[in-house]
Amino acid sequence: MNAPIRTESPELAPRCADPLDHLADRLFHEMGADGVYARTALYEDVVERLAALITRNREPNTEVMRFPPVMSRAQLEKSGYLKSFPNLLGCVCGLHGSEREINAAVSRFEAGGDWTASLSPADLVLSPAACYPVYPIAAARGRLPRGGLRFDVAADCFRREPSQHLDRLQSFRMREYVRIGTPDDVLDFRGRWMVKAQAIARDLGLAFRIDDASDPFFGRVGQMRAVSQKQQSLKFELLVPLRSEDKPTACMSFNYHQAHFGTTWGIQDANGEPAHTGCVAFGMDRLAVAMFHTHGTDLAAWPAGIREALGVAASASADGEGRR
Ligand code: AMP
Ligand code: ZN
Repeated sequence: MNAPIRTESPELAPRCADPLDHLADRLFHEMGADGVYARTALYEDVVERLAALITRNREPNTEVMRFPPVMSRAQLEKSGYLKSFPNLLGCVCGLHGSEREINAAVSRFEAGGDWTASLSPADLVLSPAACYPVYPIAAARGRLPRGGLRFDVAADCFRREPSQHLDRLQSFRMREYVRIGTPDDVLDFRGRWMVKAQAIARDLGLAFRIDDASDPFFGRVGQMRAVSQKQQSLKFELLVPLRSEDKPTACMSFNYHQAHFGTTWGIQDANGEPAHTGCVAFGMDRLAVAMFHTHGTDLAAWPAGIREALGVAASASADGEGRR
């Protein structure tokens, strides 16, 4: 996968070599689509250790929920996703017709034709971020207790942004801590996490900086929303320079949604005001790729302090079961 430029076969369009390409063979197996990979034992071991490190940093009184890779289409529509990132959304569709119609679609395929014209949308989308499903769940519990709520959520996420770069996947894991409460509750939480996240990145031996950021809102109106998001300091990212200082890779984000989800879902804080929400998101696959890019693929050779932070035994060797 992400093969180096092959000069011996001119019919293959040469790919531009990327500084992360050398990791591909040790971390992933090709699955026939850009940004969708099977993961090796070596890679998965580090993802699990990173997840455990994040868990050890969880704040008290945080409720754990794990979500499947799909969520209700109606809920995502109500969340406003189509206004912001319609280009990134993956929607589940199926053959929903009669037996005759479904057989006709399959026959068209078997005759070398197009069966996909018969697809129609299901009531599901692929979750584009881990936190969307938690707001309606919180709303269903009624007015927030004093002090608000905290959640630890995770999901396999999908974003339709195919790329050959190992740090831009279509299917990737996201872990999030979510805070729902008053504006002060949420801003305090985000501030604490921006400090804590830097300590974690330091413990992991990653080069990084924190910067204000905006989401990739779609279209021209979207550009205006991105400017406004930055002006209001609603999003920060922890950036790791994997290929250059100019174009670093966002491995975590720290988001303040103000009253967006509180108003959308009718979540009231303890004072009866629309709840404010925020989340800190960890890109698990990006963090893992950043670790291998920074420290190499031989875990036994990682610096002692980093092995300790991740609980890697000194004798662990990447030549063991990690090798495929
Ligand atoms: P965001 O909601 O865009 O702030 O995403 C949260 C985190 O998910 C980012 O900081 C990344 O670490 C990770 N992430 C977002 N998009 C991708 C992607 N295409 N491939 C891998 N990780 C991603
Ligand atoms: Zn979130």
